[in-house]
Amino acid sequence: MNDENKIPEWAPALKDLKLGSRVRWNESLKRFNTWRIGGPSRGLVDVETEEDLARLLPFLNKNDIPWFLIGKGSNLLIHDRIWEGVILHLTGDFKSWQPQEHPQTVCAGAALADVTFAQRCVSQGWSGMEFMIGIPGTIGGAVATNAGAHGGETCEFVRSIRWMDLEGIVHQDQRDAFQFAYRFSELDAKQGRVVTSATFELAEEDPQQVKQTLLECQRFRMEKQPYNQPSCGSVFKNPPQDYAARLIELSRLKGKVRGRAQVSPKHANFIVNLGDAASDDIFGLMDEVREQVYRDHKIDLIPEVQILQ
Ligand SMILES: Cc1cc2nc3c(=O)[nH]c(=O)nc-3n(C[C@H](O)[C@H](O)[C@H](O)COP(=O)(O)OP(=O)(O)OC[C@H]3O[C@@H](n4cnc5c(N)ncnc54)[C@H](O)[C@@H]3O)c2cc1C
Repeated sequence: MNDENKIPEWAPALKDLKLGSRVRWNESLKRFNTWRIGGPSRGLVDVETEEDLARLLPFLNKNDIPWFLIGKGSNLLIHDRIWEGVILHLTGDFKSWQPQEHPQTVCAGAALADVTFAQRCVSQGWSGMEFMIGIPGTIGGAVATNAGAHGGETCEFVRSIRWMDLEGIVHQDQRDAFQFAYRFSELDAKQGRVVTSATFELAEEDPQQVKQTLLECQRFRMEKQPYNQPSCGSVFKNPPQDYAARLIELSRLKGKVRGRAQVSPKHANFIVNLGDAASDDIFGLMDEVREQVYRDHKIDLIPEVQILQ
């Protein structure tokens, strides 16, 4: 059996957990990220329930098996080589939408798509989260990265969070128990906290006005961003009081091609996959952009995109 089809030695122990969730072996991760790049993962679990998650997290940690929790992979760069671990992909029960008794308040599952969330809020006439219409991630990813756009940030509307620790214990905490900053939150799987759902409190507004704001956010994306090409959104964080895209453009890197990847001619902080790009095309282009911007402006751009190591 060649290495690409190898079943890892910990596979029998994982099977012994008797999960209700589907386990796949050597599954390509290309379909699990918006750049459409990356090699296979030894194991991938479509985690359907909190019970299964509570079995998996202690198992993976006690056995030192590398694991990574993926939302829609819309802020993720994955190497082309095989990833020797388990990808946890939340689905099933984690896609819930549960309006609460308190007005304009809803508990959303971590795997619910941001776009679906924004549309449902708008159809109720609840305002605040219209900016999510252009963010192709999940609620869990939005909390973990404190996603934001058009002057709004996820943490402004989150009231409480349900999360699981690495021993499989569920916690329910108020938002203020955690720190949030620009594209940062302490509620991140890498920090040992897996978000299972979050409760949002929105504002009531004229439904026509909310719809209008949503359409404006959508129009902005279509005009300014290469929405029809695979990307990860903004590759670099904006430096204080500036814009990464402005600096990259000033460095004349717009349209720069490497292999099958390109600095988008439409938005300089986007790198697009022209079709079959290799992860090294992206890594190379990122290095080139960083070095040139540093030479020209003495600013070190920090990646916003996360790398599956
Ligand atoms: C076209 C495009 C436009 C974009 N525009 C924006 C924008 O305007 N603003 C913005 O902020 N971002 C934007 N992004 C980036 C991206 O969509 C966000 O960062 C999004 O919040 C990531 O969500 P995800 O579910 O895809 O997370 P992933 O990319 O899958 O994961 C990102 C990180 O979050 C962690 N994570 C995911 N789910 C959970 C969970 N349940 N519990 C704990 N940790 C978790 C992962 O482990 C990983 O570390 C854009 C991306 C694209 C492709």
